[in-house]
Amino acid sequence: MRETFVSVGAVLTGGSAVVALRVEGFGGDLVLIGAESEVPYERPPLSKKYLRGEATFEDMLVRPPNFYSGKGIQTRLGIRATKVDLEGKVVELAGGNRVPYDKALIATGGRNRRPPIKGLDLEGVYDLRTVSDADRIRSQVAPGRKVVIAGMGFIGSEVAASQCMLGMEVSVIARSRLPLDRVLGEKIASVIESVHRDQGVEMVFEDAVEACEGSGRVERVISSWLGWALSPSPRLWPAQRSWLRTASSSMSTAARVSRGSD
Ligand SMILES: Cc1cc2nc3c(=O)[nH]c(=O)nc-3n(C[C@H](O)[C@H](O)[C@H](O)COP(=O)(O)OP(=O)(O)OC[C@H]3O[C@@H](n4cnc5c(N)ncnc54)[C@H](O)[C@@H]3O)c2cc1C
Repeated sequence: MRETFVSVGAVLTGGSAVVALRVEGFGGDLVLIGAESEVPYERPPLSKKYLRGEATFEDMLVRPPNFYSGKGIQTRLGIRATKVDLEGKVVELAGGNRVPYDKALIATGGRNRRPPIKGLDLEGVYDLRTVSDADRIRSQVAPGRKVVIAGMGFIGSEVAASQCMLGMEVSVIARSRLPLDRVLGEKIASVIESVHRDQGVEMVFEDAVEACEGSGRVERVISSWLGWALSPSPRLWPAQRSWLRTASSSMSTAARVSRGSD
């Protein structure tokens, strides 16, 4: 009897798994179920070449779209699995369809954390995780426009660099002391900081975004540090004041949080 292998999640892990199974000779049925409507792709260019318009979506694909049908891999994209029934060996999909399986891979990855920041639902505030998110951010790019990025881990740093290369005025608010200091150590983090500063990125560290404000669309980003104004740290005053000045007109917030699920 033919075996059915199902992957719930159809990005890098799910996509690579079914591709590898087929390429390595698995002769059973393969079903790829994914909440995103695209065939499997790699996310790393989303904050780099793709965001800058130097790579196309096709460049990011795990395999070309017709690979899957050509190899007899069934794709159920743009639909969520709502339940994996381990006893009955069935994946239930939103809308009621059921996909029986012999073996299932749960490749549902991570999702962006939603911190308790007021105003995240305003127009002009963006997350970056999917290609649609990157498209939305890209549609806002124009030389001279202002962007405020919350967080300066890998993705925040990459988005800051990319937006800067596209001629935007970039400000960053980050909780850390330096960009990427926790993962790369202080020495390398200092180099990264100076590269960003040399390119004109304005950075406020040891601070956090508290609210996004505006009427309908984001116009201001307020940081927690305003709450420290009663006892301001001398080191932070100049950066904060200049940041407030630049942050006061049309602006979007990108790459709010880009770490995995928690
Ligand atoms: C902007 C960006 C840049 C990155 N850059 C790098 C980099 O330079 N280097 C690096 O090593 N890593 C990078 N990463 C991280 C890397 O992309 C991830 O590690 C990788 O995407 C993980 O792949 P995954 O398939 O396991 O999970 P995910 O990419 O999280 O995909 C999981 C998929 O499962 C779907 N899903 C979830 N629940 C369900 C459900 N119930 N039913 C159906 N589908 C569901 C999700 O919608 C999603 O489409 C970056 C990530 C981002 C967002």
